[in-house]
Amino acid sequence: MARNPSPKKRIEELRAQISHHNEQYYGTDAPEISDAEYDLLLRELRDLEAQHPELADEQSPSESVGAAAITTFDPVVHRVPMTSLDNAMDESELRAWGERVAKGLDGQPVRFVCELKIDGLAISIRYENGVLVQAATRGDGETGEDVTHNIRTIGQIPLRLPVDAPEVLEVRGEVYMPINAFQQFKADKERENEQRIAQGKKPEAVPANPRNAGAGSLRQKDPSVTKSRNLAFFAYQLGETQGMPALASHHDTLNYLKQLGFPINPEHKLVNTLEQAEAFCANAEANRHNLDYEIDGAVVKLDDLAQREQLGFTSRAPRWAIAVKFAPEERN
Ligand code: NAD
Repeated sequence: MARNPSPKKRIEELRAQISHHNEQYYGTDAPEISDAEYDLLLRELRDLEAQHPELADEQSPSESVGAAAITTFDPVVHRVPMTSLDNAMDESELRAWGERVAKGLDGQPVRFVCELKIDGLAISIRYENGVLVQAATRGDGETGEDVTHNIRTIGQIPLRLPVDAPEVLEVRGEVYMPINAFQQFKADKERENEQRIAQGKKPEAVPANPRNAGAGSLRQKDPSVTKSRNLAFFAYQLGETQGMPALASHHDTLNYLKQLGFPINPEHKLVNTLEQAEAFCANAEANRHNLDYEIDGAVVKLDDLAQREQLGFTSRAPRWAIAVKFAPEERN
């Protein structure tokens, strides 16, 4: 009869498997397992590491963000790291997060901004004196890939900001492929493949979903290919800034980004209680298929920026936000 591996052995196996899947997912945009299967592996690793603190390792994939870039794009070091998000798998985990927030803030009154979790690719776009000068992927959170030329082809992203824009402004958000653009892309690829087969050539892989298609489209050597894929963008955060007006809350940040000309997802809500945040998440899940883009959860964020500073970050994610993941669905 097969014996259960020791915790040490299982932790090593899980770390190796997760690192492999990270490379596939972030490096080649061609995952081998579903997100739900990946999340289970990560969850098992986190639980085992929590039970066995003596086996902790800073290099564990449970402690890191994404995967180091493995392509030939130039590296870009993020002046402000790009983090991931901690996950809540159900309402009880969301409430547990709410309790940690309340404890960390000694019970101060709080407000939350609830947003949709866009299933795309995190990007940081840097403007200097109002001009777009650089755009980079998240990579491992410290260093991403330079995709400036490709980002410039996304019509919704301003190349220039209004004259009163700050000296330095890094705008962060999600690049995604809308579902109708994905359907068009898939139909085109399938047609091309039929021609390839007729010519005795091997067909090219067709991305399984808008997230992989979007990520692959952004990491093209030829910007005209990226342009043809009709990518879109939602801004939701700032990175490095210099010469900014003082903003007190996340809600104000979203409004400010909107004023500067960035697309902001209108499906966000400022709420006063965690129960209202739960209702937002349930509503988002019930209506997820009424959108022209894929979402894989909702994100609940503390609104007050001073309170955020008080809570700070773990090695990979802010303590002031949580991604509430939806139940997995079969993707075809
Ligand atoms: P995550 O999806 O858990 O959450 C963080 C990311 O959410 C941010 O970096 C940002 O890009 C994004 N996001 C979308 N909307 C946002 C919003 N409104 N506000 C803030 N952030 C928003 O991130 P992750 O660390 O990239 O990775 C985990 C995800 O990738 C999981 O869903 C996991 O299943 C999947 N994954 C799958 C495989 C696989 O092999 N199938 C491998 C690696 C990762």
